[in-house]
Amino acid sequence: MVTVDKSADLKTIILHKRAEYFRHYYAHLNPVDYTTQQLALQRFPCNVCSTCYPTLSATPEFDDFTYTLYQLKPMTSYWTFEAFRAYLRRPTRGTIITILENIAFRSPPKNPERLVAQLLEGYQFEISHTEVEAYPTDAQLAHYSDQVNDYLKRIREREEI
Ligand SMILES: [Zn+2]
Repeated sequence: MVTVDKSADLKTIILHKRAEYFRHYYAHLNPVDYTTQQLALQRFPCNVCSTCYPTLSATPEFDDFTYTLYQLKPMTSYWTFEAFRAYLRRPTRGTIITILENIAFRSPPKNPERLVAQLLEGYQFEISHTEVEAYPTDAQLAHYSDQVNDYLKRIREREEI
């Protein structure tokens, strides 16, 4: 599981994770040879990628939990599932923050502290669309894609030397 700088606020952590996820997504997506793609995935890792870290034994509880979050367009993996299991054993602020660090919200919560408070009460509730930030714009997505493409370009240039 990934733990992030505890001094960063929750919203910052969530936005960083979203950027990390999209760069990783484009590293998977860009049509390059296998070796180059592996380098790109190492350069832009993301622990909530379900391709790299599949959830092999999801439970009905975990399905309910991800359904609760669907408005936030969550990307989850084996590591999210592990964090969720720890939360089920001990639903504390600490275990909840670990869950939030191990999800990429493509449409993040406007107020993550409200989400923490809701999760302290349980994991089945409704999230209103008014509590959800917009999905990244095409320009933001292009920025993430460009960061990966710039890296791939540098690799190609290095190989040509
Ligand atoms: Zn992946």
